[in-house]
Amino acid sequence: MELNQLTIHELQEKIKNGETSAVKITESVFQRIDAVEERVHSYIRLLKDEALVAAAIADENIKKGQIKPLTGIPIALKDIVCTKGIPTTCGSHILHNFIPPYDATVVEKLRDAGAVFVGKANMDEFAMGSSTETSYFGPTRNPWDLERIPGGSSGGSATAVAADECIASIGSDTGGSIRQPAALCGVVGLKPTYGRVSRFGLIAFASSLDQIGPFTKDVEDCAIMMNVLAGFDTKESTSVQAEVPDYCQFIGRDIKGWKIGIPKEYFIEGIDPEVNAAIQKAIGVIEKCGGKCVEISLPHTQYCLAVYYIIAPAEASSNLARYDGVKCGFRTSDARDLLEMYKKTRMHGFGAEVKRRIMIGTYALSAGYYDAYYGKASQVRALIKKDFEEAWKKCDVILTPTTPTPAFKIGEKTDDPLQMYLSDIFTISTNLAGIPGISVPCGFTAAGLPMGVQFLAGHLEEGKLIQIASAYEKNAQIEKRRPKL
Ligand code: GLN
Repeated sequence: MELNQLTIHELQEKIKNGETSAVKITESVFQRIDAVEERVHSYIRLLKDEALVAAAIADENIKKGQIKPLTGIPIALKDIVCTKGIPTTCGSHILHNFIPPYDATVVEKLRDAGAVFVGKANMDEFAMGSSTETSYFGPTRNPWDLERIPGGSSGGSATAVAADECIASIGSDTGGSIRQPAALCGVVGLKPTYGRVSRFGLIAFASSLDQIGPFTKDVEDCAIMMNVLAGFDTKESTSVQAEVPDYCQFIGRDIKGWKIGIPKEYFIEGIDPEVNAAIQKAIGVIEKCGGKCVEISLPHTQYCLAVYYIIAPAEASSNLARYDGVKCGFRTSDARDLLEMYKKTRMHGFGAEVKRRIMIGTYALSAGYYDAYYGKASQVRALIKKDFEEAWKKCDVILTPTTPTPAFKIGEKTDDPLQMYLSDIFTISTNLAGIPGISVPCGFTAAGLPMGVQFLAGHLEEGKLIQIASAYEKNAQIEKRRPKL
């Protein structure tokens, strides 16, 4: 196997034994990028020179015996996290020339842990989308079938891991943007509890829903990444002040006697038969591991999509009001006065989907409608949260499909926003409730497309997710395939 195909923990072994170096690992990642990037388009920007310098520094540290959890490990960053001195576009024309004067907290933490940054990964514009087709920089393609979408909005972060163009990556998840592309690309993706990972330096989409999390090649790597990412941050007001466990201790533990909730509302008409079969098989594996599956009900599930598509656009319309061409980013050169400058900057700076969200959100927040829309949605959101609180009385963890279908064709849903929104039907409730969720590969369709199983747990119970995901991964023995590119 090539170095770029290995996991963080496999590379750590090789680094510690002196079998390889950070520079060699980084070079092998960039060789792979040279070979496949043109077809996949995982990245908006590559950081090759910076990465080779960082790798050389990592090698000096390795020689001195200073080895940290990610020393010499090439990591991709979704282009929504701010990187000091390096353009951060959020997949948008309006920020195509924005150079942040500071690093996001996760960037600082990864760097402190020794990571080498490969590049800024492609994404749907402002993380609005499920297919990475709305990026101003063009779509990303699914490495398992280049005619298909990789999922979104963190599509580039998912494909970079799946196509071995990095070892692990960072994404953000507001309604499924880590777990859905992880499932469709055959990698592991975790959305942590709201507040578990600092969002300082994350460009805001919907502030009551956004979370940052990792994409990895296996569950153990996910634990390693969470050890680096999780924790309180004085710079972020919603960050949770709670102790961070060593997530690696949950790897390899059994789940004997655990109760696994299977929500009946998640096994609906319209779910692809191959996805359904894969999930039934996953349930069988969990039972073989000693888990006891119990049917549960999350009765307000049917409202999740509607509630999300009020709350997320409302918050987005407010967050995106700051992009007006005055302080940073794109500004039209063709305006006679201030008002025309605002209008033209926003008209040419934002893409169609972002404009749709701003209009929906502005309407929902407008005088006379606030109570009917945002107020009502917030009330129903409280009921959705309560559904989960009730569920935890009956089970330890919940198991669901991550997505209703495998990856769809590029262009298939771009003209039908509602169909696009439905791809997140199983992931959105997690964000509304603020709880953590993980997607783990659970097999391939006959056509060779990957699928994912999702596990959900209570607040700050990422450890439980890592434990069950690791038990599942070990016992399911999903064939290790690599996309033929
Ligand atoms: N696909 C959902 C949306 O378009 C979720 C996106 C996300 O999680 N960032 O809003």
